[in-house]
Amino acid sequence: MKIFNTLSRRKEEFVPLEPGKVKMYVCGPTVYNLIHIGNARPMIVFDTVRRYFEYKGYEVNFVSNFTDVDDKIIKKANEEGVEAGIISERYIAECKKDMQGMNVKPATTHPQATNEIDGMIAMIGALIERGHAYAAADGTVYFRTRSFREYGKLSHKNLDDLQSGMRALLVSGEAQKEDPLDFVLWKPKKENEPYWESPWCDGRPGWHIECSVMSKRYLGDEIDIHAGGEDLIFPHHENEIAQSEAANGKTFAKYWMHNAFLNIDNKKMSKSEGNFFTVRDISEKYDLQVLRYFMLSAQYRTPLNFSAELMEAAKNGLERIVTCAHNLTYLMEHASPQNVSAQDNTAEEAAPDKIRAKERECLQGAQQFVTRFEEAMDDDFNTADAISVVFELVKYINSHVDDSSSKELLQALYDMLYKLTDVLGLIVEKKEEILDEDIERLIAERQAARKEKNFARADEIRNELLEKGIVLEDTREGVKWKRA
Ligand code: AMP
Ligand code: ZN
Repeated sequence: MKIFNTLSRRKEEFVPLEPGKVKMYVCGPTVYNLIHIGNARPMIVFDTVRRYFEYKGYEVNFVSNFTDVDDKIIKKANEEGVEAGIISERYIAECKKDMQGMNVKPATTHPQATNEIDGMIAMIGALIERGHAYAAADGTVYFRTRSFREYGKLSHKNLDDLQSGMRALLVSGEAQKEDPLDFVLWKPKKENEPYWESPWCDGRPGWHIECSVMSKRYLGDEIDIHAGGEDLIFPHHENEIAQSEAANGKTFAKYWMHNAFLNIDNKKMSKSEGNFFTVRDISEKYDLQVLRYFMLSAQYRTPLNFSAELMEAAKNGLERIVTCAHNLTYLMEHASPQNVSAQDNTAEEAAPDKIRAKERECLQGAQQFVTRFEEAMDDDFNTADAISVVFELVKYINSHVDDSSSKELLQALYDMLYKLTDVLGLIVEKKEEILDEDIERLIAERQAARKEKNFARADEIRNELLEKGIVLEDTREGVKWKRA
């Protein structure tokens, strides 16, 4: 399995730190608004990376944070006249809904910066002790960038070039830094801002320290993969490396993965220019599975352009795959028992050899698509090629099955298609349809259960309906329901 490592700028063979295990950290969103489709790209891409590791039999510990203290969150909280926590909790909940719609698995742990302040203070303290950080007179703590000799190794930047690019900072009120390259670890509180006590001043952390601390706490000093969008390479990830390696004395992450950007109509996404979509906007027009398919139709290091035409193409592509799966399900449900089995020995006598051999051959033939799918994914997660292979499998299936196929063959082909699409996080199963009259009947039963104070049964019915995509709302006029 090969991964393009931003550190070496080469594809490298993946060798886990611990056999059979992958420790992976993905920088998550700052939660002050609904997530946009750009934020959805790393979510979908790295969820697919995780799924592929799991497919290969690895146990994946996947950590992804929510940045819940930040200037934008505080600004929004002050505009609404509420605590910052109200804003971040609201948008974490909304983000989780979008993730569910895109079939992004919840992380093993989703830490939040504001719950990890103690760890940040401890790491900043350790950095000061080791001579890698210092507190200025007003209590701001800076990382002493030049004290970390390898600074620049990820972004391939040279310290002196950086220094000349930063001269402007010296005259912009940052004179208390020893060096313009130094960056903030802790800053003093301002009016109307949340703050925490620290040995240096009441204040809050700089942005970069949270990921170093959360990664250490939930995954350990050394991890396999650290990932995020390419805009994070510098300064965020470069600073994370400096903090973690200076504090822990160990190599922070072995592989650094970065997704390229998503643009809209070949332009950078910009709210003011009107080319900006939230995931929620898209969900009004499309099933979010279509967005997922669209994102995976390009390899993650290729810039991707969002357009109405490409979304339509994605919709059609996904439909072809889902239709094939539904077709197999239909044929399985209607396969007659005398259809000849490719595998079942008891049917040996009844089965004319020719048909049995043909089905066996058909299954063997289909196996090449699994091999090619794996080859594409082993090559730095080339989902674009992997999707093409799935298409070829769909074509193959469509031309090899009919209503005389055995149930075993149909099931084996379905399992194959399911396994591959599941790596991509694309759902192909048939949703169980529930009729309006059945919904009404269950609601009436739930009301009766509630009257009898049998709340366990009432909750059971609510959950059963929810699983079928029916959302109940208790209103003054009675219970209303809608299809989600
Ligand atoms: P942020 O909330 O800005 O910290 O972003 C969360 C994640 O989304 C980071 O990994 C960013 O690199 C990524 N991201 C933001 N905008 C885009 C975009 N247009 N295309 C791809 N990734 C993006
Ligand atoms: Zn981060």
